[in-house]
Amino acid sequence: MFETLTVPTNHRTELLDLTSQVQQVVHKSGVSEGLCHVFVPHTTAAVTINESADPAVKADILMVLNKIISDQEPYRHQEGNSPAHLKSSIIGCQITVLVSKGRLVLGTWQGIFFCEFDGPRSRRLHVKVVAG
Ligand code: ZN
Repeated sequence: MFETLTVPTNHRTELLDLTSQVQQVVHKSGVSEGLCHVFVPHTTAAVTINESADPAVKADILMVLNKIISDQEPYRHQEGNSPAHLKSSIIGCQITVLVSKGRLVLGTWQGIFFCEFDGPRSRRLHVKVVAG
């Protein structure tokens, strides 16, 4: 079994800090030592770990992604959201975090971010906690 979090997004592109929600899933699982796997079942969204202390970091990530992946390329995908597909593949759709003493093992400044690249929408995030 795994848990699915619902993630409502508010903007075309944004990074949402979901560290506490993922930590809650770890807590509910009862797993003390193991792994937490987080998977995004979407082709225009992603998940990443980065600094959660300064919100300017996520703004900088989005600024540069939006700069290097232009809306103005002669994309062949007719849906009009090719930049979002590219950003999704560059950042990736899954992460794994160690769990110890019932807590996610993250660095002091690290947080888990859901990355929206084609919002706003209602998104999902699958979380599986495995003991070991
Ligand atoms: Zn598309």
